[in-house]
Amino acid sequence: MNIIYVSAASDPYLSGNKWNKSVVNIYIDSTPAVSTIPTNQYILWRLDIILMIERWNNMLSVFGNNINFSITNDINSADTIIKYGQVNYSWAETKKITSGSTILKATIILDDWDFATIGFNDNTVQKIVVHELGHVLGLADITNLVAENQKIYSVMVNDVTQSPYFRETPTFDFDRLNLNKPY
Ligand SMILES: [Zn+2]
Repeated sequence: MNIIYVSAASDPYLSGNKWNKSVVNIYIDSTPAVSTIPTNQYILWRLDIILMIERWNNMLSVFGNNINFSITNDINSADTIIKYGQVNYSWAETKKITSGSTILKATIILDDWDFATIGFNDNTVQKIVVHELGHVLGLADITNLVAENQKIYSVMVNDVTQSPYFRETPTFDFDRLNLNKPY
């Protein structure tokens, strides 16, 4: 099936904003938002986060996109911060500060209370993180209905734990083409 790609401004698969730099520095803040979760769990989640940053970087280099992630230990040089906090109606969210269509800063908030009480394992946490990193790059959500109707396989499919169209790795045939538009 052919998918018709429209311009970025009205593109349903893009957020409409992008980075005007080729390296996005990420700072991982492992400070717990929930005091009752064992510290060791945050060490494991940090490894999940790093693995997903590396997964995106591997795919971005294969894609030839002019953007990738770098992990920094200096919060002051960070373009993106990944931290824990409460998120209503979701397990995670990505907030951005923009100037026009340029992303200046992004923050991924992971709901550690949800992670712990719903009992998300490493694999589910990884799926959530790889999806949110797609938002950081400028990709938009794809609803399960659209994914099903158009047979779209992507990390941006909304229901990361249930949909058969959610992919754990950014895909060549869909995520690549979308990221080629802004980058
Ligand atoms: Zn999303």
